Amino acid sequence: METVLLSDSIRQLEAAAQLIKDGEVVGIPTETVYGLGADASNEAAVRKIFAAKGRPADNPLIVHLADFSDAVSYTKNIPALAYKLAEKFCPGPFTMILPKNERIPYVTSGGLETVGIRIPSHPVMHRIIELSGCPIAAPSANISGYPSPTSAQHVMDDMMGKIAAVVDGGQSEFGVESTVAAIENENTVRILRPGCVTAEQLREICENVIIDKAILNDIGSDEKVPSPGMKYKHYSPKADIVLVESSFDDFVRYVGANDGEKVYSLIFDGDAERFPYKFLAYGDNDLAQAHNVFQKLRELDEIGAEKVYVRAPSSEGVGLAVYNRLIRAAGFEVIRI
Ligand code: AMP
Ligand code: MG
Repeated sequence: METVLLSDSIRQLEAAAQLIKDGEVVGIPTETVYGLGADASNEAAVRKIFAAKGRPADNPLIVHLADFSDAVSYTKNIPALAYKLAEKFCPGPFTMILPKNERIPYVTSGGLETVGIRIPSHPVMHRIIELSGCPIAAPSANISGYPSPTSAQHVMDDMMGKIAAVVDGGQSEFGVESTVAAIENENTVRILRPGCVTAEQLREICENVIIDKAILNDIGSDEKVPSPGMKYKHYSPKADIVLVESSFDDFVRYVGANDGEKVYSLIFDGDAERFPYKFLAYGDNDLAQAHNVFQKLRELDEIGAEKVYVRAPSSEGVGLAVYNRLIRAAGFEVIRI
């Protein structure tokens, strides 16, 4: 199949919306990362998403709507806390897990009785939802297991020939996927995946905010996880990634002792002038690091890195999202000095 690259002009967004109505899959920019969008209520269309990504059938898709008031059409028994959270964090990089109704097929929910609902703020994604009139299932537009795409070119690199079109909406603003939260009761949410809506922000609305232990720890394959995505290898470039938690000086010594032709480091911008080995830099603060992390993981493959030592980010605020993506890219291989 030929994959057409579309611009974000209104004519081309109409074309993208028509493809979705016709049951095709389209790469779409959002404020988090690029998504692979299809009509969430059309089983055949949703199966095309799983096929294009090579995604395990039990890993559910998030459903994107134009407004939180539309959630009543696809879910049931919405708790009052969900409305409070929506008022504060929707539209934006925030997904709530809610009980699904019969309009969401099990193919979309990975066989679960629940569905993740997100209201994206990106004007292109928002427009395509409105023009298509469809709830849009959209996982990250990468090949399953590979770093998420933050530009139309990344989507083309992974999906050329596998999907109908990609809409170019420029670079993704946040650069990491949405915060995924399950509502356990009217006072408690559990973060299943950290993102740019932080635990600290959620605590302003909700008394108890639990950070699920699978966010920072390797969960045995036989253990039950609250979110199927936690079981799978994620975000990994071809290079072997090792996360190093240390001071800058110890990091330099460690890399020096392990340097080689295809060894690179991923460091903070502020370290660059003092760092004597091959490196890429991924920012100096949590928002910049979130914005850059997937782009840099992809670049490391392009330059032929085989081993990459990553200076661990802070795990506070948005840093938790960056830390989570990197520890998973590293397959939980962490050196603490
Ligand atoms: P992606 O589609 O690549 O952004 O990943 C979506 C993430 O949300 C995966 O880790 C899923 O396992 C998780 N997720 C989606 N729907 C649900 C659900 N109903 N219950 C729990 N986790 C979910
Ligand atoms: Mg993904």
